[in-house]
Amino acid sequence: MSLIPNIYMCRQCGYLYETKKGDPEVNIPSGTEVADFPEAWKCPDCGASADCLEEIL
Ligand SMILES: [Zn+2]
Repeated sequence: MSLIPNIYMCRQCGYLYETKKGDPEVNIPSGTEVADFPEAWKCPDCGASADCLEEIL
């Protein structure tokens, strides 16, 4: 059982972020929750802020 789920989707473009994988392309280590993203984070596909990420799983 893990407290680290989940998959988030960008409401604007459908970009998927998986907590367990992180996003190495933008230096987000695996296991990073969206709540812990750096303030400067932007969706790699559309440039939206992390506010646009919606938890879907
Ligand atoms: Zn996006």
